[in-house]
Amino acid sequence: MRPDTASLPDASIAELRALLDRREVSSVEATRAYLDHIGAVDGAVRAYLQVTEDVALQQAAEADARLAAGETGPVLGVPMALKDLISTEGIETTCGSRILRGYRPPYDATTYARLRKGGAVLLGKLNMDEFAMGSSNENSAFGITANPWDLSTVPGGSSGGSAAAVAAREAAFTLGSDTGGSVRQPAALCGVVGVKPTYGRVSRFGLIAFASSLDQIGPFTRTVEDSALVLSLIAGHDPLDSTSVPLAVPDYASALGGDLRGLRVGVPDEYFVEGIEPGVEGAVRAAIEQLESLGAQAVRVSLPSTGYALATYYIIAPSEASSNLARYDGVKYGYRSPEGEDLIETYLRTRDEGFGPEVKRRIMIGTYALSSGYYDAYYLKAQKVRTLIKAEFDRVFEQCDVIAAPTSPSVAFKLGSRTADPLSMYLSDVLTIPPSMAGIPAINVPCGFSDGLPVGLQLICKAFDEATMLRVAHAYERSTEWHLRRPPLLISVAGS
Ligand code: GLN
Repeated sequence: MRPDTASLPDASIAELRALLDRREVSSVEATRAYLDHIGAVDGAVRAYLQVTEDVALQQAAEADARLAAGETGPVLGVPMALKDLISTEGIETTCGSRILRGYRPPYDATTYARLRKGGAVLLGKLNMDEFAMGSSNENSAFGITANPWDLSTVPGGSSGGSAAAVAAREAAFTLGSDTGGSVRQPAALCGVVGVKPTYGRVSRFGLIAFASSLDQIGPFTRTVEDSALVLSLIAGHDPLDSTSVPLAVPDYASALGGDLRGLRVGVPDEYFVEGIEPGVEGAVRAAIEQLESLGAQAVRVSLPSTGYALATYYIIAPSEASSNLARYDGVKYGYRSPEGEDLIETYLRTRDEGFGPEVKRRIMIGTYALSSGYYDAYYLKAQKVRTLIKAEFDRVFEQCDVIAAPTSPSVAFKLGSRTADPLSMYLSDVLTIPPSMAGIPAINVPCGFSDGLPVGLQLICKAFDEATMLRVAHAYERSTEWHLRRPPLLISVAGS
């Protein structure tokens, strides 16, 4: 029987795969269903900066030709979208900034190239905090994105558009980037799965850089299985990124399944401290009990440097950003102020007019921390603390196989409620930054609701042990029904 195409956006990648392979639906039909659905809901969600309708329909027709020739593959013909800092040749890529408005990259990011090779279909580019700096998407130069669960709240950030699009069924999956939490925190706030792979696991070639010792690209999906499928495709060594590691990539989806008997789940005291909303703590503690009921054993562990991670991050990340963002000078590409009388004035005006306030704040913090006389006191000290944070994780992983903790200390907060206070915004990432500093993988899995808004469980593993992380997340997900709930917005939209 032919499925009703209006309900197609509700399918997971794995479900859509089956429909495409059985030829019950074509990629063009699925793509049109997504485009219609985006037309119906994105006026309210505003996840997309750009819908690439013509590109999508052409890529879908190509996918249909490959399907007709007997080809298959996890994402062949599957509609997806990308955070607007992943370069797409000839397609505007703004990084959420005025300084890159109109910039059309001359090449594809490796992650996009791999998805294209696999036959995925690009629906468009997604909103984000400018240069991935932020936790609410409110730092975008191009307007806010709303959380599909409650349109008066934020979707999280900086990959807010990527998370909101998956929650609102506006793409089968999306990619985002995570420097200090930008995949996991919005995934938690939007009730979807989000993966930050190990540093070095996924190529950053063509990812617009924020903090190069931390940036990683990762998938947003509605199920853990779907994240496993996408990660297997985008992971692996890339000669174009010297930080990508030449290690074999397991077939993550086939590693799923089995029970959790014998698995030790570390529960760090420092992640359940003052400031965590009771509804978040309750849901995460219940999730840990659920893991125990699946055969795992919970062990109390301690990561004493956790409290220093945020301060350390806000030295190291801005320092790297101040260096990375030096390239936006109005000369090579992007916005150029028409007012400059000479070269120096052109630089100054371009950067003043092109960058928003949060980006300027970070450049100033980073420049200060790196300046001679302060370098030892700030940057060097922060690097030493970073080493301690990593060593503590190494020690804790002698006592357990996976760490379980909340992803975000709060559920989605009201739009505008934290914009006047940068510190309260920075605290949104207090629990996601430590694994980022250690370079280790972490995932967000939906684990309940508090006041009607999603709560996320964060599972953290050893470097390059994404397989264990996904297996635990999958076992948890299969034993609950949180991932099956739909945002109220979808119920009110006719035909979705
Ligand atoms: N919210 C954090 C910040 O503003 C993390 C951002 C990210 O991971 N890109 O820096």
